[in-house]
Amino acid sequence: MNFEEIKKCDPEIYDAIIKEIERERKKIVLIASENYASRAVLEAQGSIFTNKYAEGYPERRYYGGCEFADIVESLAIKRARELFGAEHVNVQPHSGSQANMAVYFSFLKPGDKILGMSLSHGGHLSHGAAVNFSGIFYQTISYGVDKKTGLIDYDNVRDLAKKNRPRMLLAGASAYSRIIDFKTLSDIADEVDAYFLVDIAHIAGLVATGLHPSPVPYADFVTTTTHKTLKGPRGGMILCRSEYAKAIDRMIFPGIQGGPLVHVMAAKAVAFKEALSESFVDYQAQVVKNARELARALMSKGFKIISDGTDTHLMLIDLANKAITGKDAESVLDLAGITVNKNSIPYDDKPPTVTSGIRIGTPVVTSRKMKEPEMAVIAGFISQIIDNDGRPEIERIKEKVESLCKEYPVYEYIKP
Ligand code: PLP
Repeated sequence: MNFEEIKKCDPEIYDAIIKEIERERKKIVLIASENYASRAVLEAQGSIFTNKYAEGYPERRYYGGCEFADIVESLAIKRARELFGAEHVNVQPHSGSQANMAVYFSFLKPGDKILGMSLSHGGHLSHGAAVNFSGIFYQTISYGVDKKTGLIDYDNVRDLAKKNRPRMLLAGASAYSRIIDFKTLSDIADEVDAYFLVDIAHIAGLVATGLHPSPVPYADFVTTTTHKTLKGPRGGMILCRSEYAKAIDRMIFPGIQGGPLVHVMAAKAVAFKEALSESFVDYQAQVVKNARELARALMSKGFKIISDGTDTHLMLIDLANKAITGKDAESVLDLAGITVNKNSIPYDDKPPTVTSGIRIGTPVVTSRKMKEPEMAVIAGFISQIIDNDGRPEIERIKEKVESLCKEYPVYEYIKP
């Protein structure tokens, strides 16, 4: 990977790639939904499978020359089934949102009711937000977290389900740091005769390694992305019971997608093989240990964390007591080389473009092999910037961030 050809043929894109490599090397990335993919995953995704059309499914294609694409897709399916213990898997969704779209389009009619976690309490856009296709096509009812505990209020979910009788109950979130009780939610879905969809996009790596209970035994459908804790290429996936397999496959192709991205399915297959290894279990365990330590260290410095901690790879910081908005915290931390994202907190009085919170997660720093002592150091950096009104500390912390990153190098084999 030296990008010589891109340098010659497209210097502007070359320049952007080089700057991105530098950024990923030099900054402490705490975006909870990101990860650094392995060299093998990058090689598979950069392979000539990008050339191949393979509409259809293994051995049932609408194009010739698919014999090697069939190997790729079949291996991805086999490994994903093993990883999650699922009856049926579709590895073709281009994204997490498209995985969700395929489930909705297969089993709901426009105007049907869905009950999902509110975006402002940690849910995802594609779970019924008004600006998203899911909120445009379906009637959304939202549940949230308890104001005091920051935990999902399951009694409220049950009340809402009984009152509104949704056709589908959705679980899963983008900014919820605690174990989700899939059994209780599945009971609620049963009580009102609703389908039960669980979107494990964020926690897929934890589920695959047993660090978060699996929804597979309880849910009709499980959707995920493959690029977050799972550490694969950007993409989506659907797991479901055999009885739904045909409808799901037909909805992905020809329903809402054309040809699958064979190079991405190859990278998914590689990532699933990596995820089946012992070292991936250790990696995920460290992700959670790091998140717990980061949360502990931040709380000891006076940061308020929603639900007072985390069971997963992420946490949501409520900045209300710090006299800074999420938006400003994101900017000032980034100047010092620490990348986070602003995030609404439950019951936020600020708009999503400003917010009162930031979300932080540990998949990337753990991919860099950082452990608990480094988490305490990072908490110190964050506190020095936010508690000291940022500016005076920026240059000093930036140097420290860069030197910490040098101690935990990444992508050294990429030699631009
Ligand atoms: N579902 C959840 C819970 C997510 O957090 C995300 C992305 O952040 C998605 C779905 C959507 O994934 P994508 O960005 O691939 O459409």
